[in-house]
Amino acid sequence: MKWWKQAAKGAATFVLASALTACGVVSSGNEAASKPEKKDDKIVIGFSMDTLKEERWQHDKELFEQKAKELGAEVKTLAANSDDAAQLSQAEQLISEGVDVLVVVPHNAEASAAIVEKAHKEGIKVISYDRLIKNADVDYYVSFDNVRVGEMQAKAIVEKAPKGNYVYIGGADTDNNAHLFREGAMNVLKPLVEKGDIKIVYDQFSKDWKPEEALKNMENALTANNNNIQAVVAANDGTAGGVIQALAAQGLAGKVPVSGQDAELAALQRIVEGTQTMTVYKPIKDIATKAAEMAVAVAKGEKIETNQTVSNGKIDVPSVLLNPIAVTKDNIVDTVIKDGYQKLEDVFKNVPKDKWPKQ
Ligand code: BGC
Repeated sequence: MKWWKQAAKGAATFVLASALTACGVVSSGNEAASKPEKKDDKIVIGFSMDTLKEERWQHDKELFEQKAKELGAEVKTLAANSDDAAQLSQAEQLISEGVDVLVVVPHNAEASAAIVEKAHKEGIKVISYDRLIKNADVDYYVSFDNVRVGEMQAKAIVEKAPKGNYVYIGGADTDNNAHLFREGAMNVLKPLVEKGDIKIVYDQFSKDWKPEEALKNMENALTANNNNIQAVVAANDGTAGGVIQALAAQGLAGKVPVSGQDAELAALQRIVEGTQTMTVYKPIKDIATKAAEMAVAVAKGEKIETNQTVSNGKIDVPSVLLNPIAVTKDNIVDTVIKDGYQKLEDVFKNVPKDKWPKQ
């Protein structure tokens, strides 16, 4: 038991917990005493991740762990490989190992409410990272303005294809973000549908954000419309990869604009090579830093500054929402490369050197 938590929980708990700790007593009914005791006062953060599959999550993990370390905390990270049951049992494991706070990237917005319940039973607060946990008393949420992400995607595509047949290739139905990205895209597309300029001929989520699901979706869209498709709004770079593979098989890659998100290296290469129109860069350093700072503050029982609340169906969750950045060929150098997120020589690897931008 740490002093700052004891202080936060009040004097009575402080005295009881200290006494129990001193005698080495493990009590059953007492929340504070039933927690595993750690030998030192180092803050331990449990980081429960859905997946490390997409490139961005590897950056999240690395940058979050690095920042937490700088702040003097230790991070225990577990990734569930898109499996709800695995994520719950990993979270239980972290709780039983005595973490001070839990930071969760949920695979499933609804199912992960059980993680919050279990953590709260042990007096552990939960921060929802990037994706919102729904219908739970989650303590904090840190993410980007995800509706804005969807608006940026659709806007960039509409600029390239103001009229015609549109396909929407969404992310995982189980991820609240996938719904927010779609909502943002529809904010831009709906008025154009009503005007009669565009027609949405296909609109599907892609299970677990898998590129192969997006590929199948895009093949179906092409077949159902005899390849008569003028634009694709794809929810992230992984799904854009699947879409572009399907377009390439029909000789349409580079002819039909496609959006993305995450500033993955493969996507940036496609952008400079001309088969993908844009991506949305969400500076991972910013979210990882903010989340690590929040986690450490929460563990110390400190109050956290948030700039808004977001309803998760049960409560208004105190939230911090960061700004996404739309990236096309024109501003790659000034955004992702300048930020050190990707390297110029990697992005332009397949482009003749005389066509590389001057930095
Ligand atoms: C994230 C995206 C990511 C997607 C797939 C979303 O919740 O916000 O950045 O591409 O999940 O992992």
